[in-house]
Amino acid sequence: MNLKSLVTDGNRSLKMYAGRLEKLGIIKLEDFLFHLPFRYEDYSLISKIAEIQPGETVTIKGKIIEIKNQYLRGGRIKTFQNAIMEDETGQIKLTWFNQPFIIKNLPVGTQVSISGTVEGSGKILKIKSPKYEALYNEQTKSLHTGRLIPIYPETKGISSKWLRRQIHNILTQFSNEIKEYMPIEIINRNRFPDFKTAINSVHFPKDLLDAEKGRKRLSFDELFLMQLAAQIRRQKWNKQKKGNLLEAKKFEKKINTLIDSLPFELTNSQNRAVGQIFHDLSSSKPMNRLLQGDVGSGKTVVSAIAMYLTYLNGYQSVLMAPTEILAEQHFATIDKLLKPLGIQVGIVTGSKKTKIKDKELGISKNAFDVLIGTHAVLQKNIKFDNLGLVVIDEQQRFGVAQRGLIREKGKNPHLLTMTATPIPRTVALTLYGDLDLSYLSDMPMGRKIIKTWVVPPQKRENAYEWIKKQIKETKSQAFIICPFIEESETMTTIKAATVEFEKLRKDIYPDLKLGLLHGKLKSKEKQDVLEKFRKEEFDILVATPVVEVGIDIPNATIIMIEASERFGLAQLHQMRGRVGRGDKQSYCLLFTDNFIAQSSKRLKGMETLYSGAELAELDLHLRGPGNMYGTAQHGVPKMKAANFSDTELIQKAKIEADRIQSKITYYPVLNQKIEAISSENISPD
Ligand code: ADP
Ligand code: MG
Repeated sequence: MNLKSLVTDGNRSLKMYAGRLEKLGIIKLEDFLFHLPFRYEDYSLISKIAEIQPGETVTIKGKIIEIKNQYLRGGRIKTFQNAIMEDETGQIKLTWFNQPFIIKNLPVGTQVSISGTVEGSGKILKIKSPKYEALYNEQTKSLHTGRLIPIYPETKGISSKWLRRQIHNILTQFSNEIKEYMPIEIINRNRFPDFKTAINSVHFPKDLLDAEKGRKRLSFDELFLMQLAAQIRRQKWNKQKKGNLLEAKKFEKKINTLIDSLPFELTNSQNRAVGQIFHDLSSSKPMNRLLQGDVGSGKTVVSAIAMYLTYLNGYQSVLMAPTEILAEQHFATIDKLLKPLGIQVGIVTGSKKTKIKDKELGISKNAFDVLIGTHAVLQKNIKFDNLGLVVIDEQQRFGVAQRGLIREKGKNPHLLTMTATPIPRTVALTLYGDLDLSYLSDMPMGRKIIKTWVVPPQKRENAYEWIKKQIKETKSQAFIICPFIEESETMTTIKAATVEFEKLRKDIYPDLKLGLLHGKLKSKEKQDVLEKFRKEEFDILVATPVVEVGIDIPNATIIMIEASERFGLAQLHQMRGRVGRGDKQSYCLLFTDNFIAQSSKRLKGMETLYSGAELAELDLHLRGPGNMYGTAQHGVPKMKAANFSDTELIQKAKIEADRIQSKITYYPVLNQKIEAISSENISPD
């Protein structure tokens, strides 16, 4: 049920809140039920006024016997509301600030339940800004006080108290519509509460154990549905028509020649991944493989080898990357590698398409063997004669639709997706249970640890000096990343970056050469700036956080990140990965003006942890699964109840999904749910 439709249900107030609710991820009515509390406050004991002591946090029930507004001149507090309430043992003063409406909510005579911390001394004690709830008749179940009360994620204009009331109403009003959908055998085997009970227990628990039981059931549901959906997708994929069977053995010698021509040895896991990919390609079932590897682990070359084998078999390949900069870079790398072997490599991006005429785009036969580009490769006029392999880099940055479209350009082409999203293996199996996984678990030889320091404000000047000295002495180059201001790169960000750039250029590094890179530059300008940096015409590249993904400039060995506390660990790790790409010692300096305890733990983690996987663990630990390692940006769905570190429950969910999968048609409601999940799913199919 959509909130926007609620107005016809006579519920105007909810519609009014729709915008704000969306911020909390509440769009449909049932989303309220899955907006789960992150903790509970225990107000379950009701105290008598005569017995309370200053300093205690208490809940009291009684009657308002006096209440009034008082006005102040000037200052921040304009009005305050004073009340006196009494129970059969005594009286207490209550004070609120700037909430004149309370006078209306709690007129003299109202029965009320209040909670808060007792202050003062002497005969009449008082409570400032207590939580309150009018009890219109004695039977009213107290929602906000006098029990274990749920505390929810809030946003401006949406309080826990308000949410609690809505959720309670929905649970009452739609009680009959909250139906069990899980096969009874699963519930029995695992001794789960039924669905409705679980929902009730999570929001309005009798005690903490009750809440925990409810949450466990909901977590299981999430993991189970995700697994089941993945298994069913896998089944569908396997039923697809035949793919293009490629020969691998026959071309072993040629492949080895390519590998020998590389300026480096492949790592063990690169070799293993190549083997796994070749195995898939030489099967008649189309490949559906995810190549996962930390930033800098060398995924590109693995995909290039796969494209070469595809070419040797007489098929075309396409590689799609999320940004123009990245597409250009891949083009440069792959063209250099494959052109000497007689392979035509083409490129299509938003700004390059005009230069490439249609006939070069494969309408005439085999105008290219490998096409590299941004989502521009999806355009209708780009046609392939015989597309054999689709490679999608940074796959999490593309939508399901785009990933589907590109495959439709061929007849069941093989699919290789690549990502640096460092999710633990158990999690990957849950999310991508339908894909085959290859991991690049080791880094190329000779890579040194990127020395990382958090730089507090008082050391800023020294750090500037140190960077200059490094650049001069070791002839290396540096990135300086401007503060992250907004999610998308707006004019505000650009302006701030330009100001920062001028300051650095004039005041701090007048004798060095600096370039500026931001998202609003034209594609050509971006290329020029990067090219100049690559050719060492700049010592320092000042950039907005756009350099996050993929840029590969091995001579850059220093990256300095401003306002680093504003970034998630995932982004910091991605950015740090811009250096340490050659064999020189590299450095990452995390500037921060706001060294508060919460972010300091995260930033300190950067000083000692170097792999994406370890940082993901830390994020999981510090911020909880919902926010894990900026997974939201990485296309990993946000879990509402489940915790990705609960391997036991993940295991259980997998076993149950295995059991039920072949019987799914007997459970129509479950089946429907799965189809809904699949249509919005993150994994490519
Ligand atoms: P990512 O996995 O982040 O996409 P890239 O494919 O961009 O990483 O590779 C990062 C850098 O490492 C590139 O400069 C690439 O040439 C280099 N590289 C890749 N494999 C190896 C290897 N086995 N040994 C040394 N350098 C390698
Ligand atoms: Mg890459």
